[in-house]
Amino acid sequence: MSETLDVVVVGAGAMGSTTAWQLAKAGRSVAVLEQFGRLHDRGSSHGQTRVFRVSYRDPLYTELATDSIPRWRELETDSGVDLLEQTGQLDHGFSPAIVQIEASLVSGGFAYERMTPEAAGERWPSLNFDTTVLYSPDGGRVFADRMVDAALAVAERCGAQLHFDTPVLAIEPDGDGVAVVTEGATYRANTVVVSAGAWVSRLVGPGTKWPDITLPEVTVTRQQPVHFAIRPGMSFPSYIHHVPDDTPGAALRFGAYGLESPGEGVKLGLETSVRTDPDDVGVVDPAITAEAIAYADRWLPGADTSQVSAVTCLFTNTPDSHFIIDRVGPIVVCSPCSGHGFKFAPEIGAITADLAMGGSRRHREWRL
Ligand SMILES: Cc1cc2nc3c(=O)[nH]c(=O)nc-3n(C[C@H](O)[C@H](O)[C@H](O)COP(=O)(O)OP(=O)(O)OC[C@H]3O[C@@H](n4cnc5c(N)ncnc54)[C@H](O)[C@@H]3O)c2cc1C
Repeated sequence: MSETLDVVVVGAGAMGSTTAWQLAKAGRSVAVLEQFGRLHDRGSSHGQTRVFRVSYRDPLYTELATDSIPRWRELETDSGVDLLEQTGQLDHGFSPAIVQIEASLVSGGFAYERMTPEAAGERWPSLNFDTTVLYSPDGGRVFADRMVDAALAVAERCGAQLHFDTPVLAIEPDGDGVAVVTEGATYRANTVVVSAGAWVSRLVGPGTKWPDITLPEVTVTRQQPVHFAIRPGMSFPSYIHHVPDDTPGAALRFGAYGLESPGEGVKLGLETSVRTDPDDVGVVDPAITAEAIAYADRWLPGADTSQVSAVTCLFTNTPDSHFIIDRVGPIVVCSPCSGHGFKFAPEIGAITADLAMGGSRRHREWRL
């Protein structure tokens, strides 16, 4: 144990990397400790792309997405890497969801178009639609691995230490700060940011040195997005197909989602509720792939379902699908949960860095 750092960040996924970027840029001494390698594929942040959208049923997230756009541009400027493409995004499905999304878009001052399924089908023949369709030109896609890599690179350039293959074994109280224990070294810091994704409750809460930090119940599920080849002459905007409200978490989540991922084809994610241990991201399940093919045969006429590939990753879920971002003493917890956090990552990194620096910045009506 040597000098006392300003902040140790545990986890180098989307949230740890953007938090480290903002902290290092602000001149703080930072060490990032990641249990696996750089850009590994065993958590939630790997892969080429994610859907970006401002179209949320809850206006809180429309506002957060709004605030995220200049943050994505800031990281693009800092890194020199293109990360956000506002190529447009569609919502269709469960009608009350569409009504609420339209209200959020109106209150956020966003441009959008409402159209019938028939009109949308003529404009985007690669998709079939049910119910009213909303088109949001501000939505699109973000580049996932590329963003994590860019944020880490800028953080390192600003002086952050990056330590991969370095699992944190425990976070211990140390005076007013913390001692972050790994196998080879212990890092003393004024503050620790626990951006550990699906592993968050192993480091804080009951059974740890911080039993009084009560997190909402966190469950981890294994997800299996697939990619299909795109039929000649077809293209896809980002799309969300909303499910009825009696689906758990449906107020913030959806049923099927996807986007065109350059070089990979069209992505399709069907949310699963397969619970798993975070250490077991699992292997591709042919039954889930078959379900995805059946969905695509019905709803994605532009997809060539004879050419399919699949990957696995983890969702960290809270009961209401909201995020966990808060500070207790020297511990900041940052876990944007439930499968919809990536689009906000640069802004959440800024909020989390502010908390770690002792600030009290809140996102508008941010619910903690
Ligand atoms: C299939 C899929 C599709 C998604 N699609 C979208 C989308 O379209 N749009 C969108 O906005 N969001 C989407 N998301 C959600 C988004 O990707 C996540 O919200 C985000 O990646 C979470 O990042 P994170 O940093 O919290 O977690 P992670 O990326 O899992 O990072 C946590 C890191 O902490 C490390 N760690 C844990 N414990 C320790 C320890 N003890 N010591 C050291 N390191 C540790 C882990 O190894 C990991 O690298 C999707 C997620 C998945 C899985």
